[in-house]
Amino acid sequence: MSEDVKRMADLLKSGATMLSDVCPVCGTPLFKVKGEVFCAKCNKPVVYQKAMSPEATLSPGYLLESVEMTIVGKISEANEVLKVEKDPEKLSLYSNLVFGWLSMLEKLRGLKDSFKE
Ligand SMILES: [Zn+2]
Repeated sequence: MSEDVKRMADLLKSGATMLSDVCPVCGTPLFKVKGEVFCAKCNKPVVYQKAMSPEATLSPGYLLESVEMTIVGKISEANEVLKVEKDPEKLSLYSNLVFGWLSMLEKLRGLKDSFKE
C-alpha cells in the first residue's frame, strides 16, 4: 500500500469525509477533517476555494435552491414588517406579496421533486 493510500484510509478511519473535489496540486480526492480540507497525497491542508463550475451554476437543482433561499428570505423580511405594520393598506399589500411568494415556493418545491427523479 502506498503512503498516500494508507493516509487516506487512516483519514477515513478517523472520521474524515471524502469530498467530491480534488486537490488542485495533485488531483487526489480531498478529505474534510475537522472542518479543514486536507490532501492525503500532499499530506497537508489545502487552501481551496470551492470553484463554481459552470455546471454548478447552471444546474436546475442549484438554481431552484438559490431561488428558494431568496424567497424564504423575502417571506421572513415581510413577516417582520407584518408584525409591526398597522396600516391596513400596507398589510394587505404585504399579505399579497407573501401569498405570492408562498405559492412560488410551492411550485418550486414541486419542480425540485421532479428533478430528483
Ligand atoms: Zn494534493
